[in-house]
Amino acid sequence: MKKSKALSPETQMMGFGYNPWWSEGSVKPPLFLTSTFMFHNAEDGEEFFKVAMGKKHSLKAQGLIYSRLNNPELEILEGRLALWENAEAGAAFASGMAAIATTVLALCRPGDVIAYNLPIYGGTSHFFTEILPQFKIRALPVFINGNPAQQIAAMEEPKLKMIFIETPSNPTMEMIDLEKITRARGHLEKKCGSKIHLAVDNTMFGPVFQKPLLKGADLSLYSATKFIGGHSDLIAGAVLGSRKLMKDIVTYRSFLGTMSDPFTCWQMLRSLETLKIRMETQARNAFVIAQYLAKHKKIGKIYYPGLFAKHSEQYKIMKKQCEGHGSMISFEVKGGKRAAFRMLNRVSLCHLAVSLGGTETLIEHPKTMTHSELEPALMKRSGITDGLIRLSVGLENPADLITDLGRALE
Ligand SMILES: *Cc1c(COP(=O)(O)O)cnc(C)c1O
Repeated sequence: MKKSKALSPETQMMGFGYNPWWSEGSVKPPLFLTSTFMFHNAEDGEEFFKVAMGKKHSLKAQGLIYSRLNNPELEILEGRLALWENAEAGAAFASGMAAIATTVLALCRPGDVIAYNLPIYGGTSHFFTEILPQFKIRALPVFINGNPAQQIAAMEEPKLKMIFIETPSNPTMEMIDLEKITRARGHLEKKCGSKIHLAVDNTMFGPVFQKPLLKGADLSLYSATKFIGGHSDLIAGAVLGSRKLMKDIVTYRSFLGTMSDPFTCWQMLRSLETLKIRMETQARNAFVIAQYLAKHKKIGKIYYPGLFAKHSEQYKIMKKQCEGHGSMISFEVKGGKRAAFRMLNRVSLCHLAVSLGGTETLIEHPKTMTHSELEPALMKRSGITDGLIRLSVGLENPADLITDLGRALE
């Protein structure tokens, strides 16, 4: 099946990039568990290497050599991933962190500066603050609840090379206005006369509810472990962007060896077929549950984009930037940590575990689990309190989840 502008991504997940007659009519792509591929003859081997090493340009698909460089599962998967954001190209990685690390190492050099928002995923934060300085790359934070676009525009950093944004934020679901960030970036590019890459971690809402590439971002990054994989049974990552940028990133991936393996790619191909219905149903379930929690007398603050106050700034950003509310809810249980732990220990349908985006509902305590590494001041500034609980709503019947949550809160 060829790429078609007329067909929706969800339609193309069932066939794009694969022809059953390549494989005995097998409706599904077979899984190629091989590390290496045979050449028809030595001339082919020579030719494939020249193209793979960038010494020669070829209009034909790159010949298969070795699974770290390329393999059929990677090719089919990457073609399908790109369709979700109408990207020119995509690349799959061994994890979300592999995607982030490979991208930054491919595009930044010693002396360069990265601006990023806080709070941000803990692994990203550790990579930025503990590892990158060892390579003389500095990462400067801006605060999500203090007009990040303005903070970036005010940066006096001639070596600013990348703006790395995660929106909505985790766990309090605050949104950053990507249009404003794009404008700030444009202003800085003019001032320092060089390109600044805008990279967006789109794990929380993408690709179904948010498409940063259509809002001015150069790169959209994913922990595919979450919604794209969607079944809590794999670890993977992805990056989407222009052909040129992706070529630079994939070159680094080939030599760092951070690609996704064929079996995981094959699992993701299966997952992509249900991505849209999963994310939409999970979001619908989350809306029902958020409404229930918001009215519960033992619940204080609740953070869910579906409940943003109409006409608030956050509501306006969501309306212009997102196509849905997502399925992540955070809420404060009255009574602090003791009350929160009591609830966590009493749920039975919800799984007490970190991660998110799976078919099963996951529940956790950010302050002592996913966000325990944050400095106390930032923890406070980010609204991560003792009573805060994060819920990733799955595909269970929401009435059953409400019964479970209600019992645990009693
Ligand atoms: C989980 C996560 C990551 C890291 O992804 P891994 O697949 O665990 O390496 C990065 N960003 C966000 C927003 C995440 O939720």
